[in-house]
Amino acid sequence: MIAIFDNNDSEYSAWLLANPSGYVVNMRHGYSPSYMVLHRSSCTTVNPSTSSSELGAFTERDYLKVCGSELEGLRSLAKAFGRPDGSFSLECSKCAQHQGRG
Ligand SMILES: [Zn+2]
Repeated sequence: MIAIFDNNDSEYSAWLLANPSGYVVNMRHGYSPSYMVLHRSSCTTVNPSTSSSELGAFTERDYLKVCGSELEGLRSLAKAFGRPDGSFSLECSKCAQHQGRG
């Protein structure tokens, strides 16, 4: 269950509400595998309900979001995007303590 939100912050916000324990990968438009940052749904840097950024900043400007209810699916996606080991370019330190497999 992977959902990609490219230029639609309202749908992205709705997904976060429905998946409070999911995962969010922040990417730039163009889907470069060199920038794939993993967060939890609840992370204040990617969640419009807790972030200080205005709506629109999440998927409608420089970035887009790839969301998944399970980490495994996002790792598969990272492989498909050109990261053979299924890693991310960075795992957010603000929410890292909550990350785990599955
Ligand atoms: Zn984070």
